[in-house]
Amino acid sequence: MARTLDYDVVIVGLGPAGASLAWFLRKSGLRVAGVDLVDWDGLWGKPCGDAIGAHHFDETGLPHPRGEEVRQAVEGIDIYSPSEKVRLRVRGKGYVIDRNKLGRRLVREALDAGVDIHLNSRVTAPIIEDGRLAGVRAVGPGGDAIEYRARVVVDASGSSGVVRRRLPEDWPAREELKKVDANIAYREVVELDYEIEEPEYIRIYVNQEIAPGGYWWFFPEGRTAANIGLGVQGGRGYPNPSLIYREKLLKRPEVRPVKVLRAGGSIVPTRRPANTLVWDNFVGIGDNSFTVNPVHGGGMGYAIFAAHKASKAILEAFEKGDFTARGLWGLNLAYMRTIGAKQAGLDIFRIFLQELSNDDIEYGLRHGIMRAEDAYETSVTGELKANLGVLDKVARLIKALGRPSLLPRLVKVAEYMSRARRLYLEYPEDPEDLPRWVARVEELYAEFKRAIGVKW
Ligand SMILES: Cc1cc2nc3c(=O)[nH]c(=O)nc-3n(C[C@H](O)[C@H](O)[C@H](O)COP(=O)(O)OP(=O)(O)OC[C@H]3O[C@@H](n4cnc5c(N)ncnc54)[C@H](O)[C@@H]3O)c2cc1C
Repeated sequence: MARTLDYDVVIVGLGPAGASLAWFLRKSGLRVAGVDLVDWDGLWGKPCGDAIGAHHFDETGLPHPRGEEVRQAVEGIDIYSPSEKVRLRVRGKGYVIDRNKLGRRLVREALDAGVDIHLNSRVTAPIIEDGRLAGVRAVGPGGDAIEYRARVVVDASGSSGVVRRRLPEDWPAREELKKVDANIAYREVVELDYEIEEPEYIRIYVNQEIAPGGYWWFFPEGRTAANIGLGVQGGRGYPNPSLIYREKLLKRPEVRPVKVLRAGGSIVPTRRPANTLVWDNFVGIGDNSFTVNPVHGGGMGYAIFAAHKASKAILEAFEKGDFTARGLWGLNLAYMRTIGAKQAGLDIFRIFLQELSNDDIEYGLRHGIMRAEDAYETSVTGELKANLGVLDKVARLIKALGRPSLLPRLVKVAEYMSRARRLYLEYPEDPEDLPRWVARVEELYAEFKRAIGVKW
């Protein structure tokens, strides 16, 4: 017989999404449980580049990392062209964090404020009763069967999506991640045999021959250690990133590890958000809901943002006593019309980038088609507007230099980025209108792919 535990809210997974939600709900007066299969040392332990912009903390009120939670304070990002002769410096404050230490503090603070934390507990499936999501089944630390019952079940289990993927097939919240809409990423945290110059600038190298459909990175952690890794687009038959790491990155002069501190890989969604973050008694945030920046794959910041908006939507649902999709819909409206719209624009941009050759990327960066401030603008707003002025100016130059195909493609990309954003700004007010909106979204992306000749 399974032991039954009753809550108002059960959060499955205590990574950046789940731990942040537990933290935001810690003083809500609701009976909240957080369940994770790892122990305290394993919290937030998933392989990651560990870099996060400081603005995510300002925007949500989650405490900034401090002391040993910060491995490196960041002043900006250097983006290198394939030849590495062009470098864009994009300024912006952030951190390379010790995920485990920050995660542990947030979970500890939630626990101290009254959230029940169940570690070493693996959730195996949602409980569906009379067509309704009533909780989750789990296996506790001693192998004992536990049923967590709750009005709201939150899937924050990362890309495993243990609840979302097992929802009834006809629920719109059940949505699979296509391989081509994800990067497979691998990283090592290493000690180096030299001193890094300007460790406060993290480095991104765009090079389709090293990291096809992604990029490789070098994020300093102080002067003598770094988080080094790469992501490659899934589903295209590219080599495994851990193999590329060994064959290509370890041969580079700046990657000279004397000691490997941590190594591992995982999947990163690189697309627009899931069509809905809620359904009846269900909320999904973080990687299972694809709340990730499609261009750079950063997911911690959006997971925190989604958790912040989810905490408000859950409180509203309890005030109204309505735990249906309609009662929780406020999360969709708050997310889709802000970050979701940005993600939608960037998803168009990502598809375009993944099709570019190294020559095109080099050309674009060298001739100022993508300047530092534009790169920043694009990554913040999901719109390519800032570049259009530059595009006009370089139009004649491009033609003169014999690369006439790039300009019309870029104009198309800018147009579709705008259309995708607008569509997300029109996210339906009511769950009933979701299927019609989803059809429009799918048609827009299919049309864009046809327009630029993408076959996948
Ligand atoms: C190599 C790599 C580099 C990356 N670099 C960056 C970066 O520099 N910056 C950035 O912002 N993002 C980066 N990302 C993305 C980022 O790691 C994720 O977007 C982020 O961790 C998502 O948070 P999450 O809470 O949704 O999921 P996760 O961090 O995956 O947390 C999910 C939690 O759920 C738990 N869980 C899973 N299944 C179950 C179950 N059945 N029962 C109970 N618990 C369960 C897990 O133990 C885990 O604690 C990177 C990803 C990879 C793979």
